[in-house]
Amino acid sequence: MTSLLARILLSIMLLPLAVVVYLAVLLPLTRGNDEVAFTAATSVTAVFVAIYWLMLWRRSVQWTLSRVSLTIAGSVGCLFAGVIAGLAAMGVSGIRDEAFGVFIGGLVGAVLWLPVTILVWRERPAERAERIRQSASDVLFCPRCGYNMTGLQLARCPECGAQFTLNELFAAQRHQHEIADAASSAEERPGRASV
Ligand SMILES: [Zn+2]
Repeated sequence: MTSLLARILLSIMLLPLAVVVYLAVLLPLTRGNDEVAFTAATSVTAVFVAIYWLMLWRRSVQWTLSRVSLTIAGSVGCLFAGVIAGLAAMGVSGIRDEAFGVFIGGLVGAVLWLPVTILVWRERPAERAERIRQSASDVLFCPRCGYNMTGLQLARCPECGAQFTLNELFAAQRHQHEIADAASSAEERPGRASV
């Protein structure tokens, strides 16, 4: 199982786990004051969902200042939406129990918060293009003398004068990358560094 697949499966498990946390807090308290029990269960579950979600995905997010600000603004917005949903649910249903309002508000806030973070955290097209550009080996070297031929408009080396076809150039780059990869994986092998 790849780590990405594991994180997707753990994301799916968030909802049932949140229900377990909610009930674990609610049930021991509910014999006393219902409103306090529901408020405590909603608060603890909200913190659990936020920490679980952040722990799962924070390393996959490119944290820029605007993304951090949007995450905070979105979280505050979801909190407000939850409060409004709770009050509206009480008004529409005629159930004047505040515990009911807290339950509905917490549910709406949490269910809104997850897609909001996904939209804010996902990679934008410009970021994707930049990531691909950085990971791609876009440097072309002359196969004969090693001169950096990046950006040239002719497949002729200005240093040694050798003329290549595009096929020859690309084949030579692939070969060089294989050598470089083999060298770097040999360096990473434990025990080699101390020799
Ligand atoms: Zn050359």
